[in-house]
This record gives sequence, structure tokens and C-alpha cells, in this order.
Amino acid sequence: MDPVSKSEFRIAVLPGDGIGKEVIGASLHLLEALRSKIPNIKLALIHLDAGAALYRRTGTALAEETLATIEGCDAVFLGAMGLPDVRLPDGRELAPQLDIRFHFNLYAGIRPIRAIPGAPTPLADPRAKDIDFVIIRESTEGLFADLAGGIVIDNEQARDTLIITREVSTKLFKTSFDLTARRKQRGRPGRLTCIDKANVLRSMAFFRSIFDECARDYSEIDAGHEYVDAAALNLVRRPWEYDVVVTENMYGDILSDLGAALIGGMGMAPSADLGDRMAVFQPSHGSAPDIVGQGKANPVATFLSMAMMLEWLGERNGRSAYLDASRAIYEAVDNAFRTKTLCPVEMGGSDGTQAITDAVVRAL
Ligand code: ATP
Repeated sequence: MDPVSKSEFRIAVLPGDGIGKEVIGASLHLLEALRSKIPNIKLALIHLDAGAALYRRTGTALAEETLATIEGCDAVFLGAMGLPDVRLPDGRELAPQLDIRFHFNLYAGIRPIRAIPGAPTPLADPRAKDIDFVIIRESTEGLFADLAGGIVIDNEQARDTLIITREVSTKLFKTSFDLTARRKQRGRPGRLTCIDKANVLRSMAFFRSIFDECARDYSEIDAGHEYVDAAALNLVRRPWEYDVVVTENMYGDILSDLGAALIGGMGMAPSADLGDRMAVFQPSHGSAPDIVGQGKANPVATFLSMAMMLEWLGERNGRSAYLDASRAIYEAVDNAFRTKTLCPVEMGGSDGTQAITDAVVRAL
């Protein structure tokens, strides 16, 4: 059915493992409050189980029927998956969230890094309050494309292959330029930086050449490049100067954790994994087994991921109620922090999942 003619959207909800269940629970509570404020948002929530804990119980982390159910949904709202003590025979952790990414070709991982006014940041420079950039991480190839294909040769040598294709890179860069242009319309600088290692790796020189080809179609965007090592330095030294960066899968994995640290921690960083016909919205963090069950998990990243989902549904389907709902979440989070009295445990404060959820619901 054409999504525009739908009276409601089907959302697959996968809390997954560890604190995934805690932050999704908090977000569904916020969603209830939002629905009473904006009744026009109609979401049918389909609750599904997947993850390392499910694998431990049943031997399967992501069942075929679960994938089939997701196929019939409009979007996925996910917590976190993977547990360090549940591993495959070759030693790797289970990562069904990556299987979902590959299955639906979710090539564009969008990771906004925005300092929330009033929230503590580890940087002393007052300009840290102006941090507002987006990391776009290619999410289906790069060094992660070889997820199941890496080899150990005669116990003496191991190899993983970094794959870049013209097809996926072109779509990734187009998404990146379009997003940069949309941000420019909202007053941002309109600057897109390709982060690579084109001075050393053939694959990265190829990646950069495709970026340059795409840039020719976007003369209004200030397109540039930076090597990944320099980017790691500059993202700490002057992160407020970045607007949008686009990068390979593994570099994006690492730089997004760095970005999350700049704005207070993993619990502040939302994400969206976008493909041509499906999208997964989840906090950038993992299952955080070190704090599970202690009420310490910061749910803000998951709240903001839900806001991204509502915005995506609203924009794709021309539904203003969903855009209003998305904005209401951003404003509630900002207002909850603006008083400077809220300080999550991960930032050295004492506010846990419940206190933060209550403050955001109140601000709504
Ligand atoms: P993955 O590789 O699956 O993304 P990870 O190994 O990067 O996971 P995380 O689970 O993201 O690890 O945890 C990294 C650190 O951040 C841990 O110390 C964890 O407690 C902390 N952390 C992660 N998410 C949150 C959160 N929502 N609130 C508070 N602390 C968090």
C-alpha cells in the first residue's frame, strides 16, 4: 500500500539487549505523553524480540519470521544489540542489528552531534555550546562489508577486505549533499567534508573521486576533504567548525563515538540508518552491560532517535503532525536541560533513566 494513503504507520520495536530495553521503555513512555498532546500521530507498534539474549535462549539472534514482519513495517525503532559474553564460535559478538542493516541495504548512517543547551560537555572552550554537525557513516560496505568473510590463514595471518562500490557511494554522497543543502536552508554553513585516507588506500582514493564527481552537481555546497587522522584531531580541537561529514563505515563507527563524547556521552547521540525503502532509528550506543539494571542509562539518545523517526515519516509522507511531534521532542529535551539542573549519570551527575524521562515528559 502507498504510505501516503495509510491511516497509520507500522513500527517494528526491537528493544534488544542490555540497556536497549530500558531506553526503549522510557521512549515508549514519552511517546504515550506525545500521543495525548498530538493525537494525529498514529503508530501501530509491533513488538519483536531479537539479539544476543534471544540467541542464548534459542540459538537464533534474528529469526526469519522477525525479518519478514519487519518487511511489512514502515520503520524500525531499535534499542541496542549484542552482549560481550554471548559470542559466535569464531569469537565475534552477535550483531543482528548489522544483519538488519545489510538485509535492508541501509547504507546511510546519520549521526547528528548537537550540543544540547545547558547539558555539560567535556570541552572547556565556550564555543563547545555551538557544536552542531552530522556524521554520515556508510553502513553496508567499507571494512564492515567483510563481516563474515574475514579469514585467518594457517593461524599465521588474518585478512579483512575493505569494499567500496560506485553504486553505494554515489547514493551515500547524494544523501549527504541533499542533507547538507537542507541544513543550509535552515541557516547552517552548507559545508560537506569527505573524511577518508585517500593518501594511503586505493579504496579511499576511489571513494574520494566519486565524492568529487557528485560535488559537481551541488555548486551551492562547500565540498572539501580531510584525512581521517586529521579529522580525529580537529573534531576535538574545533568541532564547532564542522557542518556535515561523510565517511567510510569503520571510520564512521569510531568518529561517531568521539562525536558522542563531545556532547556529553553515548546517551546523548541518536542515529538513523537510512536505505531507499526502510529505515532503522536507534541510539548510537551499544547495550552497555556495565550499567544494565542500575537505572543509570541516559535515554536522551533514544528520545532523539524517535524524533528523527517521526521527522522521517512526516517528510516522506507529507504529514505535518509527525513533524510537529518530532519538534516537540527536540524542544522538550532542550527545555529539560536548559535549567542546567539535569545532569545524567554518564556526565558525572545523579540523574538516571527515570529522572531524565520524567523531566522530558514534564517539559513536553
Ligand atoms: P557497540 O560496539 O555495541 O556500539 P560499545 O562497545 O561501543 O557498544 P556501549 O555499549 O555503547 O559500548 O558503551 C560504551 C560506554 O558508554 C559504556 O561505559 C557504557 O556504560 C556507556 N553508555 C553507553 N550508552 C549509555 C547510555 N545510554 N547512558 C549512559 N551510559 C552509556
